[in-house]
Amino acid sequence: MPNDIAVIPGDGIGTEVVDRSLPVAEAAADAAGVSIETADYGWGSERYLAEGAMMPEDGLDRLRDHDAIFLGAVGHPEVPDYVTLGGLRLEITKGFKQHVCERPTHLFEGVTSPLREYAGGEIDFVVYRQNTEGEYADIGGREYGGFDNEVAVQSALFTREGTETIVRAAFEAAADRDGELTNVTKSNAQAHGMVFWDDIVDEVGAEYPGVSVERLLVDAASMDLVRRPEEFDVLVASNLFGDILTDLGAGISGSLGLAPSSNVDPTREHPSMFEPVHGSAFDIAGEGIANPIGAVRSWALLFEHLGEASAASKLRDAVADQLADPDAPRTPDIGGTSGTGAVTADLRERIE
Ligand code: NAD
Ligand code: MN
Repeated sequence: MPNDIAVIPGDGIGTEVVDRSLPVAEAAADAAGVSIETADYGWGSERYLAEGAMMPEDGLDRLRDHDAIFLGAVGHPEVPDYVTLGGLRLEITKGFKQHVCERPTHLFEGVTSPLREYAGGEIDFVVYRQNTEGEYADIGGREYGGFDNEVAVQSALFTREGTETIVRAAFEAAADRDGELTNVTKSNAQAHGMVFWDDIVDEVGAEYPGVSVERLLVDAASMDLVRRPEEFDVLVASNLFGDILTDLGAGISGSLGLAPSSNVDPTREHPSMFEPVHGSAFDIAGEGIANPIGAVRSWALLFEHLGEASAASKLRDAVADQLADPDAPRTPDIGGTSGTGAVTADLRERIE
């Protein structure tokens, strides 16, 4: 049975990196003797502008039976960001209980970090981001009671299921890596949800005596990821904090365009979704210069999740070889002058 993958290119450079990375993923699958089949869902902001919804009402049902989902990115200058994100990405992550968002940060040989004292391989950590609730729970409201009385409430939600799932995934990852977990919260200022979160970290941590736990407040963690990134192994954080820290990780490892991401339901009751960390990047959309490597690395995470380790490592090796090769094409965000297609054509050659 082929691996059956739903592909949602989305908007802007999302469509560009999906179009270009798919043949690379297919080449890796071929080389590894893995068969994949894809179904293209043209959902996104154009659909919203034409029909009033980012995806059809039965969208989740149509996705449900696929083995995995690959998403480009959504975001359009004429549609509010809370509509594009809430009407598609968040529907899927919440609807399919993709509680676990895994986002690795790795400084590749051949890529320059803005923290110039670091060489390839010296920055390597992974953030486990709670992906379905926290500060992104859609709870709140806005009351206009006359100018002085206008008020808006945006609440955060922490459930045992959502919190325990991400914390356990992070401990599992730490146990597989260097055994060091950093728990990032703001429990000095947010004494309800975040103290609940800390308690669950202590509770689950008791099952992992081989993993050491460091607690950091998110403001201090932001500074330390710049000041001593080499010391981090696995970080676990809420939805908002994980979102912010992973763009920071992408920044210190050379480019947002290199960063991959997964949205996983560890129970495997629902399909998981894989996507580059970046958005639709209006500023460079249509120019053909988007870096496709974040998308290619996301395909590697997808194959890994489906148990196709050999296809995953073909993608990872091709990316590492290409970045380490000073003569290889590279996009402008990492100091090159090549376009998206030249980078993916070179990756295909390395794989084939
Ligand atoms: P962005 O990630 O689209 O872009 C941030 C900066 O990084 C821009 O300067 C962009 O040119 C650069 N960049 C991003 N990806 C790149 C790549 N592959 N190659 C080279 N450069 C790259 O974030 P933004 O500008 O804050 O948001 C733009 C839109 O994307 C908004 O509508 C936002 O809501 C949406 N967004 C969507 C997702 C998603 O679909 N998962 C994630 C983040 C942002
Ligand atoms: Mn983000």
